[in-house]
Amino acid sequence: MPLRIRFLGAAGEVTGSCHLLEIGARRVLLDCGLFQGSAETEARNREPFPFDPAGIDAVILSHAHLDHAGRLPLLVKQGFSGPIYTHEATRDLARIMLKDAAHLAARDAETDTRKRARRGLPAVQPLYTVDDVDACLPRFHTLKYGQRRELFPGLSCRLQDAGHILGAAVMELWLEDRGMKRKLVFSGDLGPGHSFIMPPPTPVAEADVVVMESAYGDRLHRSPEASVAELGEILQQARRQHGNILIPAFSVGRTQEILYLLAQHSREWGLDAWYVFLDSPMAIEATTVYTAHAALLAPAAASYARESHFGAPHLRFTATPEESIAINGIESGAIIIAGSGMCNGGRIQHHLKHRLWRDNTHVVIVGYQAMGTPGRRLVDGARELMLWGEPVRVAAQIHTLGGFSAHADRDGLCGWYGAFQKHPLAALVHGEPRASTALAAELRTRYGCPVTVPARGDSLDLGELPGDVSFDAGRRSA
Ligand SMILES: [Zn+2]
Repeated sequence: MPLRIRFLGAAGEVTGSCHLLEIGARRVLLDCGLFQGSAETEARNREPFPFDPAGIDAVILSHAHLDHAGRLPLLVKQGFSGPIYTHEATRDLARIMLKDAAHLAARDAETDTRKRARRGLPAVQPLYTVDDVDACLPRFHTLKYGQRRELFPGLSCRLQDAGHILGAAVMELWLEDRGMKRKLVFSGDLGPGHSFIMPPPTPVAEADVVVMESAYGDRLHRSPEASVAELGEILQQARRQHGNILIPAFSVGRTQEILYLLAQHSREWGLDAWYVFLDSPMAIEATTVYTAHAALLAPAAASYARESHFGAPHLRFTATPEESIAINGIESGAIIIAGSGMCNGGRIQHHLKHRLWRDNTHVVIVGYQAMGTPGRRLVDGARELMLWGEPVRVAAQIHTLGGFSAHADRDGLCGWYGAFQKHPLAALVHGEPRASTALAAELRTRYGCPVTVPARGDSLDLGELPGDVSFDAGRRSA
């Protein structure tokens, strides 16, 4: 089979993005992400890759989120020695995120080892180390948006702005083997189109096959304006209750958007009366990358980033652990932005433990919460959360503001697909089954197009075009 794609991760689920493209004898990976969520899901990161890493010729990386980039150090450690093509901003963000992932892996391995030692079990090694990340980073080669490049005979690539996080790319891939030509487009993660800081995702006109994300394929987000108004109301309510606000935020993207909004609405929201903390070394670092690549942002955000470097009145960047711990001393009037975005690590866990049991605390959820994460349990109405091995009562008010999502919703996804002149086969990935199936139905209704929802391990022969075969069920490779 000369041209084929195999779906090896983020197929039938949201994390672990990884697709293997076979172009004749060449093997190219699109993304190499971590499985994230429950302990059971994350255990899959330790399973061997379903291919020989040394046999991969190149990787093309859509963006820096760990569910797309997080297994790259493992890939290199296990023998991959080719180039990793991506946007420059993605390279800069991936450096920060992969190092952070290595630090977290070391800490987790240490904790597990201590627990196991008490039971007489051997030590566990971290998934990878900072040294592994250092070995991976020189493999990055940067591509610019909008410029087509031949990566090797039979594969050309052009990145387009996906409008999701800084540097995120839609990949246009021109494939050729023994006279067979196909154009495959991989959406990566698509932005919502109405982000306050990112431009809308770039539409693409032509493709034979589009592999596209479907994370919110069954939902419509609230309008961003409604979410901004709601955030303003939450601030007022918390103020009246002499309470505090916790915002678990992804260090990359959500954090900068929240900072931008706080700066824009500082007078209207009376921010003079608040202390605002960006309590995350990684988010502070990521913010400097956003400033350095301000030209990639939506125009108003670009000027703000250039002028104020994402500053806001009464905003303090608390990089050190001592500064972070000092926040606990504040009785009321604190807005604390801290990672991780799904509350499964990072300083937000300390703040939750310290404040979740108080009824004048407001937790503002602004991003996607994967199954099995503490953030998801909060959104689902849990009355108690285990933090650092201790049950903590949830008395805080939990608010979910969908308008700040970094992903396109059902209409956004359909609209982006609708820009293709002829309706290519859509292979829906990066979604929980309910979301992917709902989007499949919606695309068929709106465009009458062929759609498939591949399961992990499924493969698609790109030689067979829509109309030649039935794509209704994901076709399983043996
Ligand atoms: Zn993403």
